[in-house]
Amino acid sequence: MVIDELRRVLGADKVLTDEASRAGRRRDSWVPSQLADADRSGEPLPCCVVRPSTLSDVIDVVNVCRAARAPLVPFGLGSGVCGGVLVSADSVVLDMGAMNRVREIDTHNLTASFDAGVRGSDAEAQVQARGLMLGHYPQSIGISSVGGWVATRAAGQFSTAYGSIEDIILSLEAVLPNGEVIETRRTPRASSGPDLRHLLLGSEGTLGVVTGVTLSVRRLPEKRTGAAFFVRSMDDGFAVQREILQRGFQPPVLRQYDAVESERMFGAYARSGDGLLVVVHEGPAARVDAEVAGVAGIAAQMGAEPASAKAADHWLAERNHVPTFGQFFENGIVLDTIEIAALWDKVGPIYRAAIAALGAVPGILTASAHSSHGYRSGLNLYFTFVARPEERSDMKATYLECWRSVMRATVEGGGGISHHHGIGRIRREWLRSELGDGGVALLRTVKQALDPDGFMNPGVLIPEERTNDE
Ligand SMILES: Cc1cc2nc3c(=O)[nH]c(=O)nc-3n(C[C@H](O)[C@H](O)[C@H](O)COP(=O)(O)OP(=O)(O)OC[C@H]3O[C@@H](n4cnc5c(N)ncnc54)[C@H](O)[C@@H]3O)c2cc1C
Repeated sequence: MVIDELRRVLGADKVLTDEASRAGRRRDSWVPSQLADADRSGEPLPCCVVRPSTLSDVIDVVNVCRAARAPLVPFGLGSGVCGGVLVSADSVVLDMGAMNRVREIDTHNLTASFDAGVRGSDAEAQVQARGLMLGHYPQSIGISSVGGWVATRAAGQFSTAYGSIEDIILSLEAVLPNGEVIETRRTPRASSGPDLRHLLLGSEGTLGVVTGVTLSVRRLPEKRTGAAFFVRSMDDGFAVQREILQRGFQPPVLRQYDAVESERMFGAYARSGDGLLVVVHEGPAARVDAEVAGVAGIAAQMGAEPASAKAADHWLAERNHVPTFGQFFENGIVLDTIEIAALWDKVGPIYRAAIAALGAVPGILTASAHSSHGYRSGLNLYFTFVARPEERSDMKATYLECWRSVMRATVEGGGGISHHHGIGRIRREWLRSELGDGGVALLRTVKQALDPDGFMNPGVLIPEERTNDE
């Protein structure tokens, strides 16, 4: 039996079978899993939770589970929002929480290496103590792990200047499904064939276990300052952002809220009917000063009026607030957020189509959006929907209809279905629209080559094979 074998190779203290341990790690923060808990129908429990503390423990777990054909589900800190962690009764959950060592901080080369289970906020505190910063600041930094960031291809709130996790990661160590270890070289760039880091980035536990991560970190900024501007419409704001970015300015934070979200998020700093563009500049003082003047100049030229810079301070103070949905669910209200990405010429039409489609879902209370990650060639959008169906029993169906509305509007508008939360279970069947049949077939080929037994996080990311009559 798999539990006995795991106890034999790891020692009994690293194999947990008590109900609380299994219940606490059986799901991530995906709304349907939370709804199941709220309805007390609950998601199933795994047969056990293993807590490896070394690389060799992880290798042992992978080898035991492969031999036993037991589904192995990696678990970072469970903040994923797409259903990447969900178990069956025969699953083994691989909780990375005991792999929490800071391996090395190198202040000369600006690199920091961590075990994959290190909590994001702990990693940041450790590098800050040395006068450095990660530059990767997901809102969930206090509830997510460094390995989870890699496994989901996460993006932090300062990404417009600092990039997302794929830009910040220097190297990684991972255990492949066959039990072999890969460790990519620590070098600032390589022209050494395909970049193997990208096999694991965004693989959501399906192609191996990320065990160690080295990030290229930054010195703490000399100066930080905020600004905000009113924009009359989303299209007006998109035009201002495009001009800022294409002229070569790169404030780390550039966030544009539609009128609904501006009022909801910024209260006194908002102006009825207008949207808000919030900017945070940071870096060497001389560059910050030039960027502040440059961005303000563009905003003025394009008719965006200055708003209170306190809006930016307010955002900075609130940015790591983690909302809980339990109270809403109890009141029969279902809500979620959906992030997508699009080129500049597509982002406006997708915004309008998705908001209109959400507005047509029976029971919808609010549909709104903001952008939070800007690029030379386009932008992300982050939709929020809140709905109360007439019947409580329709909450999940309403949730799924809201998701379908945004996914359809995005695909039909030529956008990308996920900017940073990943695929998990909720977007799995939409991946075909993104990658095409050829892309999905390639992904399946890679999965088959690396994990022919299919035991690494089954049911996640990779769409089901099509049957002949489809
Ligand atoms: C309030 C809130 C705010 C959020 N804000 C952001 C944000 O700003 N930016 C952003 O990108 N995301 C955000 N997220 C989503 C989430 O925090 C990220 O997806 C995060 O990277 C998940 O990390 P985790 O350690 O919690 O992973 P988990 O939820 O435990 O796992 C996520 C997926 O990765 C796999 N996995 C985890 N660890 C490993 C590993 N070591 N090796 C292999 N596979 C692994 C799991 O099997 C699962 O498929 C937010 C979530 C919440 C709830």
